[in-house]
Amino acid sequence: MHTILRLDVAGQPRGWITAHEAISAYAKGDVIYGIGATLPPYFGGVQRLTGLRSRIELQPIVAIQGRIVQGFVPPLCNRTLFRRDDHRCLYCGQQHARADLTRDHVLPTSRGGTDRWENVVAACKRCNWQKDNRTPEEAHMPLLAIPFKPNPFEWHFLAKDRILADQMDYLSQQFRGLRAWAS
Ligand SMILES: [Zn+2]
Repeated sequence: MHTILRLDVAGQPRGWITAHEAISAYAKGDVIYGIGATLPPYFGGVQRLTGLRSRIELQPIVAIQGRIVQGFVPPLCNRTLFRRDDHRCLYCGQQHARADLTRDHVLPTSRGGTDRWENVVAACKRCNWQKDNRTPEEAHMPLLAIPFKPNPFEWHFLAKDRILADQMDYLSQQFRGLRAWAS
């Protein structure tokens, strides 16, 4: 079953919902508009009086009524962090499986560094061990890219493994697809 991208009335992404949740939002009249090619129809129950089976057509992106939340804070977790950094260690530049990557604090937490997007990067275990409790400058291990906080569009893209083309189109219009890697 497909996952539907939920927007608020302003068109800001507000989460991934199940097709069931989207169908129930349609049934309640909460869907303001949909975007994207219609998905294969879902069939509901057979109506007793008419003998007809209900048929529901969904779009991959739906804007749902509700309050507009200002200042979305993208949650930080390793899965989305490693995807932000393309599963690449930002010290040696090698790509690794998720299990071989760690969350490195650029300014170590023991030195007052905080756990926020702008201070964390993907690092392989070897580089993390080598860098130890030092800054990149002290360790002579320059960062290959500047860590950044993804905007709501990019965060929703990073948070989802499989994404439909229309959803990708909608989200990717609002973020740079390519990192500025140091050469
Ligand atoms: Zn490395």
